[in-house]
Amino acid sequence: MKDIKSMLPEEIAADFAELGEPRYRAKQVYKWLTRGVGSFDEMSDIPKSLREKLEKQYTIYKPKVIKKQVSKLDGTIKYLWELYDGNAVETVVMSYKHGNTVCVSSQVGCRQGCAFCASTIGGLVRCLEPSEILDEVLFSQIDSGKQISNIVLMGIGEPLDNFDNVVRFLKLVNDSDGMNIGMRHISLSTCGITERFDELADLNLQLTLSVSLHAPDDETRSKIMPANRGRGVDELMACCKRYYEKTGRRISFEYIMIDGVNDTEYHARLLSKHAKSVCAHVNLIPMNHVDEREFRPSPLGHMKAFIKILEENGVNVTVRRKLGGDVDASCGQLRRKIQKGKEC
Ligand code: SAH
Repeated sequence: MKDIKSMLPEEIAADFAELGEPRYRAKQVYKWLTRGVGSFDEMSDIPKSLREKLEKQYTIYKPKVIKKQVSKLDGTIKYLWELYDGNAVETVVMSYKHGNTVCVSSQVGCRQGCAFCASTIGGLVRCLEPSEILDEVLFSQIDSGKQISNIVLMGIGEPLDNFDNVVRFLKLVNDSDGMNIGMRHISLSTCGITERFDELADLNLQLTLSVSLHAPDDETRSKIMPANRGRGVDELMACCKRYYEKTGRRISFEYIMIDGVNDTEYHARLLSKHAKSVCAHVNLIPMNHVDEREFRPSPLGHMKAFIKILEENGVNVTVRRKLGGDVDASCGQLRRKIQKGKEC
């Protein structure tokens, strides 16, 4: 059985041609899929005999909402979805002046082991299928009634550790007969799986690559991000530079401010140097507290001093607005609480 929602429209058309079905049938079926149907039976303009044939060859799954939380502070919505095998992932819908952004997960759990992150605590369970990532966008839009205009791959998981499925998802969500979300409205965030940067650059997708840097030197970075061990900041910067040169797209560095760990003057100066060397924009993130983690967010004073150094060095810096603080809207927090039996 094939997962039809992970197939590109031209692949569905090729299958239908083999079945002896006209091209317009493939288009009709694809259109139903993009509207979020849960079975072939709902496709009312497809003859019953064909629906029965398709049911034997393909699967269609529709994720179920296990939990939906709406922030009283800012309307941010957090979904916990149940997947076909009982696993769960999170999706967050945030409303900004320029439109609605959805933050999607790319894996169930994560193997990267970042010391400040809730998503990685139970390790990696499995990668998400292209259709499952697409469903996060589609069903968030359908359930919330909010038209999604931007996507960030910043939920649970490491997108470049699920490379092929993520690229297929990007093609599906970008398809003009599908959700039609422009690549320039999509950001992919990575902890720095450098071996994949060239491959991604070669696809020339025009999305925004966000690198979770979080420390500018190997000693600090390897301590809080195991992905740095064996790769190193110099290699990461060289890959970022090549990516920028190949695609012409400026990279964004994500930087969580952690008290006493990565927020000193030394870190700010070295970060400035790296950002300038690859023309990166720096996005500072106030750290969200995670129960199991000992780290504390940097006090406001440290943050201000840090920003001042970056600005003095001519670095383009912004501070991420905190949304959904009352709905555990940070990376793996809700799934983690449910695993521990603290919620539901
Ligand atoms: N694996 C990818 C994408 C998922 S994490 C990556 O590493 O980029 C998405 C972002 O949330 C990353 O920048 C990550 O570092 C950040 N994040 C993780 N835990 C956080 C926390 N406790 N507070 C604030 N941001 C956090």
